[in-house]
Amino acid sequence: MFGIIKNKSTYTTKVKRVLILSGAGISAESGISTFREADGLWENHRIKDVCTAGCLDTNKDATHAFYNARRKDIADKKPNYAHQLIVELKQKYPENIAVLTQNVDDLFEKAGMNSDEIVHLHGFLKELTCRDCEEVFDAGYQAQDKFAKSCPTCSGELRPNIVFFGEVAPMYAHLTKELQECDLVVVIGTSGNVLDVTYFAQFVKESILNNLEPSNAIDDSYFSKVYYAKATEVIAEIAEYIEEFIEN
Ligand code: NAD
Repeated sequence: MFGIIKNKSTYTTKVKRVLILSGAGISAESGISTFREADGLWENHRIKDVCTAGCLDTNKDATHAFYNARRKDIADKKPNYAHQLIVELKQKYPENIAVLTQNVDDLFEKAGMNSDEIVHLHGFLKELTCRDCEEVFDAGYQAQDKFAKSCPTCSGELRPNIVFFGEVAPMYAHLTKELQECDLVVVIGTSGNVLDVTYFAQFVKESILNNLEPSNAIDDSYFSKVYYAKATEVIAEIAEYIEEFIEN
């Protein structure tokens, strides 16, 4: 007559999931140039010359020189307050927060994040990979040739472990999984030209966007909260919101 009365222990509280997705803008205040903004150039190079599938065959020396220079350039760069607060949040709420970045720099790691706490969707500058056996090597900040002339394992040809336009991005599997599970997506410092962050905002219950200025590739009306400001100026407010979201 009263139906089934469930024991309290059969109810489980769903862990709230937050996806923090960053792009080149979060590292801009640390002195690393962004990508597409005004002129579509990355450090004065056209993307199609150094960051597109086939570059390693048609423009090999210049492509290697470009990534050698990027690797050297990040050696002395320091994480900023935005990287630091995100690392603190991840360490405080390891089960709730996923940190995914389009960045290939190591500023989250320099701020104290372990390599298994962050997903680099587009690769990692300090790594080289073999075009034949696909083993990945940590080259640090060295030029590729300084690290090795060929793959230490199979003598195959080494290349930067960076996903070029037109290449498969294996780490996107993590992005799909996190988007399916997350309740709040926080997007910081991306123009949305590579990843369709407007779609992510439509897909997820709540969403936050932080960029320096509006982007033609993002419809910000889909975001619950929008900050057009430097990441270091608004990250404390965003972090507070994330904490409240998780706790309540
Ligand atoms: P993007 O360069 O296309 O856009 C940068 C965005 O950051 C812009 O929307 C801009 O308004 C915003 N921005 C600039 N300064 C900011 C600040 N101080 N605070 C907050 N936002 C700020 O960046 P993207 O969308 O990440 O570009 C895609 C590709 O660029 C990625 O695949 C990435 O691999 C590559 N990239 C990486 C780095 C890096 O690792 N640091 C640097 C350059 C390019």
